[in-house]
Amino acid sequence: MSDERPEAILPGATVGVLGSGQLGRMFALAARRLGYRVHTFSPDTDTPTGQVADREVVAAYEDLDAVRDFARQVAVVTFEFENVPAETAEAVAALIPVRPGGTVLHIAQNRLREKTFLARHGIPCAPFRHVEFLGELRAALIALGTPAILKTAGFGYDGKGQVRISRAEEAEMAWAALGWQECVLEGFVAFEREVSVVAARGLDGAFVHYGLIENAHVGGILDVSVAPPPSMAAGAGGAAVAAEAVAITRAIFEALDVVGTLCVEFFLTPDHTLLVNEMAPRPHNSGHLTIDAHVTSQFEQQLRAVCGLPLGSVEMLRPAAMANLLGDEWTDGTPDWSRALAMPGVKLHLYGKEDARPGRKMGHLTALADTPEEAVERVRQARAALHP
Ligand code: AMP
Repeated sequence: MSDERPEAILPGATVGVLGSGQLGRMFALAARRLGYRVHTFSPDTDTPTGQVADREVVAAYEDLDAVRDFARQVAVVTFEFENVPAETAEAVAALIPVRPGGTVLHIAQNRLREKTFLARHGIPCAPFRHVEFLGELRAALIALGTPAILKTAGFGYDGKGQVRISRAEEAEMAWAALGWQECVLEGFVAFEREVSVVAARGLDGAFVHYGLIENAHVGGILDVSVAPPPSMAAGAGGAAVAAEAVAITRAIFEALDVVGTLCVEFFLTPDHTLLVNEMAPRPHNSGHLTIDAHVTSQFEQQLRAVCGLPLGSVEMLRPAAMANLLGDEWTDGTPDWSRALAMPGVKLHLYGKEDARPGRKMGHLTALADTPEEAVERVRQARAALHP
């Protein structure tokens, strides 16, 4: 069947989510508030999504009989994890709508396909070369120069599956470090800052966005996001950059016919050029602040979009900043939540994960304030306060 059915999937219906992490959890919480039921499918048990869903189906993504059984119990399927095998999405799509569609998933789960797609549509991104063997890597390093970043073509996120190459002599070591697999070599972008645009598109083609969000990464993992971007709040330059970022984001939605929420991450260079780093066809970590700071969160927009409902208002209620809580925060025992919770305008989100491994996303804090600068300061203070 197809996406042709004009009627909306209304509250009371069951929505299926492929994947079971924190993105699915926050999606499920939004869906349940609107009166939907939620089923989640992944190989894991007692998951962040499963804990708040009506049903947690535990099976391998490759178990297509289990996938079809799952699909038969729900009205529509979306995903919170883009590395679901293409066959899994296809098996679902043969029975009920999958939104966003399988093509989006196929492109976004592979850096080479993603970059090829961007280049083909004239969307600016870092210069890159396809690398399948060491000789190609050496040639690519000559073409792009050093430093450069070697990234696996498939299955990478949060800075995983990538190594920085500072000198051409490091080629062999870098190639080995990534397991001699198909890669993309990217020219190093000396960016001034990183920004993202989270947006949503409805079944009827309606498009909404949250404007620019400014992001700071530590060790390849998002650390703090803030909106509106403090450095660009004033001045015509900032408005022009924001308008261009939104136009690029919209072009990606249209080219891929995306129904749902999608995030585009950008590098912004000192001369105000925007280069797409990557896109995620789902709610994104940098959009978590929309839960507390906007009338409609990125998760509720995903729900509204995939159910064929009108999209919600993206009005921002107050400037906000979000700080991730990684497993590292647990090194000296459970953080002292009461100290952060006692701070005005600070909200705590925890994902229900038991095992606090270093680098694992366990939760986040959001701080609301009168200005984005104050919000950043407050959220950093709240995180520091967890460790008396
Ligand atoms: P990724 O997982 O590809 O988003 O990379 C994680 C982080 O590594 C990015 O947010 C950047 O901070 C940095 N990074 C990735 N690619 C590049 C690049 N081509 N030039 C400079 N920094 C990069």
